[in-house]
Amino acid sequence: HAKNEGKGTIRFFDRLLDEKAQRRMALDSGMRKALETGGFELHYQPIVEIDSGEVTGLEALIRWKSNGESQRPADFIPVAEENSLIVEISEFVLESVCRDLENGAILRAFPKLESVCVNLSINLFRLAEFEERVVRLMRKRSVDPSWFTFELTEKVFIRDFRNISEKIDALRRRGIRFAIDDFGTGFASLTSLKRLPVDYIKIDKSFIRRVDEERDNAKIMETIVNLSDHFGFQVVAEGVETEGEFGFLKKISCRYAQGYFISEPGSIETFFNDGSKGGTDGALQQ
Ligand code: C2E
Ligand code: MG
Ligand code: MG
Ligand code: MG
Repeated sequence: HAKNEGKGTIRFFDRLLDEKAQRRMALDSGMRKALETGGFELHYQPIVEIDSGEVTGLEALIRWKSNGESQRPADFIPVAEENSLIVEISEFVLESVCRDLENGAILRAFPKLESVCVNLSINLFRLAEFEERVVRLMRKRSVDPSWFTFELTEKVFIRDFRNISEKIDALRRRGIRFAIDDFGTGFASLTSLKRLPVDYIKIDKSFIRRVDEERDNAKIMETIVNLSDHFGFQVVAEGVETEGEFGFLKKISCRYAQGYFISEPGSIETFFNDGSKGGTDGALQQ
């Protein structure tokens, strides 16, 4: 009896594994096709300088529709990271940003823009020729590297801190800026802050949630803003959804904010046709 049960359990898990593997394979071949047929798109989400109300930054976020259904980056990027697909996808993202910068589309929509943020996977940093590829790609489009901010997550620094820091420094010497994404969700301690070779710290949205009402989050944000001041980082609050949250961030002199309260991500055309999203009066209309 027990033996039979065991077999059934194994078959059940086999099937689960099968489904997972199949989903992965489907995503994999879907992404390959999307790369060939232009199925990926970029959306941009404004980052506002809180004091001036100006849009000084944009985060590039990849979008993919497969069979009419939107696929979430959180689902397909990890699959792409398992092989070289992530390299091609990242190059697509960098090239698209370069194209939008080169033809002036982005700057017409956001005249005060200083930087475009691109999310990069750690695997890319392990490529020996990564720096050369990035620089060649930008040069081909005559886009200065100083237009870019590369976003990395904290976990990048757990292993190989020295090695990764050196690679970052080489790119920073070329003018590329760096940000720690989703800060607070990984393993970086507050004391490790002083060692991070980055320009910006993007605080994860879980700490922004109800920051105007929730005392723990309020204290955490105040502490991070003060420490960042001390160490010379600029702080970006991610996932700002309400006026109350925005007002609190302003009160504690957090420099930048990003989130649905300011604007949802959209294609460059939506911002170009709808001035309200790229507005410069600081009213932050939805
Ligand atoms: P992320 O880099 O932390 O990007 C911010 C995510 O938060 C985006 O989700 C954005 O749409 C969402 N968001 C923005 N404002 C708000 C808000 O007010 N409230 C809430 N609840 N969410 C908000 P998205 O586009 O689904 O991307 C998810 C993650 O996928 C990104 O997190 C990033 O890690 C990754 N990703 C996206 N595009 C790329 C890419 O081109 N390359 C790589 N390697 N990863 C990417
Ligand atoms: Mg990001
Ligand atoms: Mg983030
Ligand atoms: Mg995130």
